[in-house]
Order: sequence, then C-alpha cells, then structure tokens
Amino acid sequence: MRIVLLGAPGSGKGTQAKLLVDKYKIPQISTGDLLREAVAAGTELGKKAKAVMNAGGLVSDDIVLGIIQERLSRPDAKSGFILDGFPRNIPQAQALDALLARMGRPLQLALLVDVEKGVLMKRLTGRRSCSNAACGAIYNIHFSPSKTGNKCEKCGTALSHRSDDNEATVGKRLEVYELQTSPLVAYYKAQGKLRTARGVGGISDIFKNITDIIEAQIRPLAAVMNQIEAAAARAAAKPKAAKPKAAKPKVAKPALKPAAKAPPAKKAAPVKAVKKAQPQKAAKKAPPKTAKKAAPKKAAKKAKPKKAK
Ligand code: AMP
Repeated sequence: MRIVLLGAPGSGKGTQAKLLVDKYKIPQISTGDLLREAVAAGTELGKKAKAVMNAGGLVSDDIVLGIIQERLSRPDAKSGFILDGFPRNIPQAQALDALLARMGRPLQLALLVDVEKGVLMKRLTGRRSCSNAACGAIYNIHFSPSKTGNKCEKCGTALSHRSDDNEATVGKRLEVYELQTSPLVAYYKAQGKLRTARGVGGISDIFKNITDIIEAQIRPLAAVMNQIEAAAARAAAKPKAAKPKAAKPKVAKPALKPAAKAPPAKKAAPVKAVKKAQPQKAAKKAPPKTAKKAAPKKAAKKAKPKKAK
C-alpha cells in the first residue's frame, strides 16, 4: 500500500497517518518529523532546516528529497508507506514519481484530508503533543484536551507546544500551503489518483472516511494486480510446457532413421514449411491492413492543428 496524505497544516493528516500505521502495519513517513529529529539532534541538516522551519517556510527540495530517498530505501518501507507532509510542491511530487518509478513501486493513492480554513488555525495553535516520541499522542486545547491537564493521558509525559504552532508561523504555513502545496491536488487528479476525505468531525469518523476510500481504491487494485501477476506467471510457465512437445520429434527421429533416411526428410520438410508459412502469411496480411487504417488517422490528427492555426 503506497499512499500520499495531502492536506493543509492542521488537517489532521498526521493523526490519521498514525491510525493507518496501526491498521495496515506500514510506516508513516513524515518529513516534518524527520526534520524535527534532525533539528533536535543538532545535525548539519538540522541546523540548515531549523531557521526555515521556524519561519514557516519550506526546507529546500534537495534536503527533503535526500531524506525521503534514504527513508524509502529502508526495509520497513518495502511493504508500503504512508507519506505525510511530502511532497509539498510540484517538483517534489515529480521527483517522488521518478524515484518510485525507478523502484518499480508507483504511488497508488493520493488522499486529501479536506478541512475548512477557519478550523485549521484553531487546530494548529491549540495543538499539544506528547514529548515522548515513542508515544506521540496528540491533543488540542480547544477540541480534545488531555484529561490530565498538561500531561499525556496515556504515558504521563509532559505535553509540548510545537515552536511553529504560534499564530504568526501558522499564518505563514497556511499561506505556503495554498501557494505551493495545494496545486498537488490538481497534479494527482490528473493522474487519476486523487481521492478526498472530509476531515471534520470525530477522529474515528474521519478515520472511517479515509479507510473506506483506501479499501475501495486499493483493495480492488490489489485484486487486479494479483490477477495480472497470476496471468504473467501462467504465461511464463507456457514456454516451459512447450519444451517437452518440441522434444517429441527428437524421440521420433531414431524410429524413423532405420526405415529410410530420405522419406523422413521429405515428411519433415512440409511440416516445417507449413509451420513457418503460417506466421509469414499472417504477418504479410496484417501490416497492409493496419497501415491502411493507420494512415488516415494520422493524417486526420495532423490536419487538426493546421485548422487551429
Ligand atoms: P509538518 O510537520 O509537516 O507540518 O512540517 C513542519 C515544517 O517542516 C514545515 O513547515 C516545513 O518547514 C518543513 N517541512 C516538512 N516537510 C517538508 C517538505 N516536504 N518540504 C519542505 N519542507 C518541509
């Protein structure tokens, strides 16, 4: 299962991605999380990314593509992945398509979690996350506060407020989303891979909207892929089955040899001639038909632009 989750900051795609990880046992790959880890670890990459992230801008494509390439090559991504926060612009989407094509594992679905702009600001500025990375529980002081105040209900660790979840940075992030990321909706629509889930309501309701789409889009695709693979396997098996048939004349040859050398040669010759002649006749007949049919179509296509000019 290879999915991209699209949605504005605050659409809840991170929360939904975590639920999808539990259900489908495939990793969530969040460039935001990977960048924050690099910032926290103080790596060279983290130092480069920190200022841009705090200003609400986009980290350079080179850095992000390097991170994503390395992450997708890890063994746990072989069974599939949920991309969260990547791609963030058209060049990243094109680079992802090229990378996945090289890996022979194209994207199956781009799922947009759709939320009205008014809700996004409250969701982002009110967001609180468990500081324990292994837990990662997310709360919201407006919509879903922790019952234990500023501590995680699940593990008791203190909750933290992301440095880029303040109003000024959130405003900038929403602006960047509108300008750079929202064109991805049209990009994936053109590929026939876009589906939209309503991202407002209870977390479990939104999760159902999302999984209904995944089940409808990817499961049938998986069935078709299985059929294609089975047909390919049968086709691959056919030449193997044909080999014993080819061996039959070899078995027959010793029996014919004692009778006479000349007659078997005469009998063998027509058989070969007939076998060869059939495809030749078919091949000779076919090209003129297709050529005749193809010619007017090409001429018609060429004629259109001339009219347009
Ligand atoms: P997120 O957690 O996805 O909201 O990302 C937090 C910040 O990390 C963003 O505001 C960007 O500065 C940076 N970031 C995350 N993913 C990307 C990406 N694919 N391309 C560029 N910058 C990114």
